[in-house]
Amino acid sequence: MKIIENLDHIRNEISVAEKRFNRLDSSVCLLAVSKTRSVDEIMVAVSEGQRHFGENYCQEAVEKIDAIDDHDLIWHFIGPIQSNKTRQIASHFDWVHTIDRIKIARRLNELRPESLAPLNICVQINISGEDSKAGIKLDDADNFITELEQFKRLKIRGLMSLPAPTSNFNEQRIPFSILKQKLQELSISRPDLDTLSIGTTQDMTAAIAEGATIVRIGTALFGPRDVTKQSN
Ligand SMILES: *Cc1c(COP(=O)(O)O)cnc(C)c1O
Repeated sequence: MKIIENLDHIRNEISVAEKRFNRLDSSVCLLAVSKTRSVDEIMVAVSEGQRHFGENYCQEAVEKIDAIDDHDLIWHFIGPIQSNKTRQIASHFDWVHTIDRIKIARRLNELRPESLAPLNICVQINISGEDSKAGIKLDDADNFITELEQFKRLKIRGLMSLPAPTSNFNEQRIPFSILKQKLQELSISRPDLDTLSIGTTQDMTAAIAEGATIVRIGTALFGPRDVTKQSN
C-alpha cells in the first residue's frame, strides 16, 4: 500500500532532518493533511499509528471526523475560516492554525464547548507579504497575540505560515528563520508559546532546519490531490 510506504519514508526523513539540524528526537510532529482524502485513505494512516490530521474544508472535515469517530485522533483546522463555520470548527477540532482575525477568534472562544479543553490555536503570519494570502503581518503579531489573550477558551500555541513556494533549499529557509526568531521573541514573556507550524511537502526539511514543531504534509503522504474535490 503506497500510503504506508510514504508514511514510513516521511517519518524517516523527519528523523534524519532532526539529527542533521540538531533537533531533539521526536520534536517534530507530522500533521497528515487529509483534505480531499477519503475516510479509507485516512484509516490506512491511522492503522500505521498516525494520530494528527489536518483539514481545510469545514463541511468535508466534519463529515469525515464524525464518520471516523475516534477520540484518539487529533484534528487540526488549517484552512480559511468563514464566520458561519465557527460553531462546527469549535466543536470538532483540537487545533486551529489559521487565526488572523479577532472576530473569528472571539466566535471560536464563545462557541468552544465547555466539555472540551481550550482550543489550541496558532496565529497565521503572511510572511511573503502577498496581498492575496491569508495571515497578519509579522510586525502585528505581538499586539494581535496580546488581544487574543483575553479569550480564555483558546490556548495560544504559536505561529503558522505558508510562505511563497521556492525550490531552493537556502531560500526556503529564509522566511522560516524569520518566523523562528519572531516566535523566540514572543515567547520571552509568553513561555506557553511552543509551536511553529511550518513546512509542507515542498519545504519540510528547510522547516525542520529552522525549528518547525509541526510539519503539514499532504502530497508526500497521500499522493497528488484531485483538484476537482477542493471545495467547501
Ligand atoms: C494543503 C495544505 C498543506 C499540504 O500541502 P502539500 O504540499 O500537499 O504537502 C499544508 N498546509 C496548508 C495550509 C495546506 O492548505
